[in-house]
Amino acid sequence: MEHKHLDLDGLLQASYGLGVDVGDGLDACDVCRVRLERMTQQRQQPLGEDNLPEWFWLRRSREIQEAAQESMEARPRPRWVRIVAMAGVLAAALLAMQPRPNAPARISPEDERLWQEVTATVNRVEPQALAPMDLLWAQ
Ligand SMILES: [Zn+2]
Repeated sequence: MEHKHLDLDGLLQASYGLGVDVGDGLDACDVCRVRLERMTQQRQQPLGEDNLPEWFWLRRSREIQEAAQESMEARPRPRWVRIVAMAGVLAAALLAMQPRPNAPARISPEDERLWQEVTATVNRVEPQALAPMDLLWAQ
């Protein structure tokens, strides 16, 4: 099987010990092993940021927070805020223009009782088998 040199992902995985089938390639190929050693050396070199004092990071963090705050205040309101506000005004205007509803028609007590029974039946939440329990509370 022909060896394929490790690409950056493969080198990174091998460098972090994540590679599964990387070992064969590293043993067989000098190019890959040298690349991996170079990458590991570079990773172990101290970075310039590591030597910066604590106050530098505190000041930098405060600058970033202030910049974020300023950009939040300077940013215009998003378009959807205006759209929602317009929709609210429109809905209020439509409601204000509605004619007054007519007085509700008088319903006979029999009709009202029937309506309540039908509604109770339709909106029943308990299982059908427990329906006789309604009799316990019936007058
Ligand atoms: Zn190779």
